[in-house]
Amino acid sequence: MAVSRSLRTRAKVVVERLAAQYPGTPKQLCALHHDNAFQLLVATILSAQTTDERVNLVTPDLFSAYPDAEALAHADPTRLEGLIRSTGFFRSKTKSLIGASQALVERFGGEVPSSMEDLVTLPGVGRKTANVVLSVAFGEPGFAVDTHVGRLSRRLGFTASSDPEVVERDVEALVPPEEWGALSLRLILHGRAVCMARKPRCGTCVLADVCPSAHLFDPAPL
Ligand code: SF4
Repeated sequence: MAVSRSLRTRAKVVVERLAAQYPGTPKQLCALHHDNAFQLLVATILSAQTTDERVNLVTPDLFSAYPDAEALAHADPTRLEGLIRSTGFFRSKTKSLIGASQALVERFGGEVPSSMEDLVTLPGVGRKTANVVLSVAFGEPGFAVDTHVGRLSRRLGFTASSDPEVVERDVEALVPPEEWGALSLRLILHGRAVCMARKPRCGTCVLADVCPSAHLFDPAPL
């Protein structure tokens, strides 16, 4: 999309203010506990439709039982389902975890690849998961779009789309690549703490003076 200069300026301010509010690298900002790219990939697959806290409760036992792609590729599905049941959608997640691990072993020497092109060929891995792995595990540009990131990107006027791929492209056109990973994670933190879906706290938001949606959600005066 064509990007106006004022929109770029506002995006720059948003990047700077959120960086001050939520400091840290993508690795430090990521709430999913992990020690390496494989563990992050597994945790991110598990995080679909559940909370990071819930995932962090199951991953210690999971990583201890299956420390690498080779081990997880040969997992007994029933045992694996038992370990991840509390994260929901455990049958399809079991298929994804075993399928992705088999693909890692068969096509990537058991290692997690570091390109979007390769990552999205893994079962259960879409662009959101791939962008998390790229930015957090490899320090590469990657703007992951989840429900918070999509909502905030629209409220901030960075995109008009509800299609995650379009949101990704629109925001990437506005922000330098080295900021993509941290910005995505900061938008998630801001979406949870301040810019919630139903009642955003515009009165306390550090972005209010550059946000076209500020106070749109305030209750009408009596
Ligand atoms: S000003 Fe309100 S709508 Fe805009 S980002 Fe902040 S909380 Fe969200």
